[in-house]
Amino acid sequence: MANSKYEYVKSFEVEDEVFMPNLVVIRIDGRDFLRFSQVHNFEKPNDERAVNLMNSCAVSVSEEYPDIVFSYGYSDEYSFVFKKTSKFYRRRASKILSLIVSFFTSVYVTKWKEFFPSKKLRYSPSFHARAICCASIEILQAYLAWRQNDCHINNQYETCLGMLVKCGKTESKALEILKGTQKQEKNELLFQQFGINYKKLPELFRQGSCVFKTEVEDSQV
Ligand code: ATP
Ligand code: ATP
Ligand code: MG
Ligand code: MG
Repeated sequence: MANSKYEYVKSFEVEDEVFMPNLVVIRIDGRDFLRFSQVHNFEKPNDERAVNLMNSCAVSVSEEYPDIVFSYGYSDEYSFVFKKTSKFYRRRASKILSLIVSFFTSVYVTKWKEFFPSKKLRYSPSFHARAICCASIEILQAYLAWRQNDCHINNQYETCLGMLVKCGKTESKALEILKGTQKQEKNELLFQQFGINYKKLPELFRQGSCVFKTEVEDSQV
């Protein structure tokens, strides 16, 4: 349609370039994965095969897109950090975001059998995504610390919930017990009622996973 009278509509495309020197971060997250994890009988609170599948998809994404220098994820989410000087797709957020989330999703489906050889994928999963614009390394650090803190809070909560249900409490009773409890109280509940030292649970579940490249073409992150 080059040079056609309709070409003027091109100027109506949303401008969403993330300007230099901001860092581009893309976070993908499974859509309604509570249901997805139930339909596929994920072990609760953590199905290690599902975590490994997510990690493997993140490695594939990092390999596919050389400008990604670091990734962090847990549960059904992953954040991908682009190098500061990236010119990938002219730094247009929607282009980058759509590529990452669609590639991640297709790899997730393709690799499903590898991680769940005896479990049929019952329906097509989808992931939503957003772009985050980090103005400095300090803000990037705060962003990643926030996601990791979220990992910790969710994992601790899910571990307590899972144990309470396992020992015979109804889900609503377990939720009531946990309502308003602080980190320390949850640690005590786990230790006193179930003999679980939270800090000794696998780091993979407590802290999440990261993928990083030891060598990047451009040293400026
Ligand atoms: P949304 O569409 O808003 O993201 P969601 O149901 O995916 O909804 P999340 O906050 O993203 O909500 O939570 C992810 C859900 O997926 C949690 O309920 C979590 O228990 C489940 N889940 C993800 N990964 C695993 C895993 N490895 N093992 C067990 N459950 C998992
Ligand atoms: P970009 O990443 O910029 O979109 P692209 O190679 O996908 O790059 P497009 O302008 O989207 O560029 O062109 C799509 C290409 O895919 C064309 O080269 C076209 O020939 C090819 N293609 C798409 N569908 C078919 C089809 N059904 N049969 C044969 N070729 C196809
Ligand atoms: Mg989700
Ligand atoms: Mg999530």
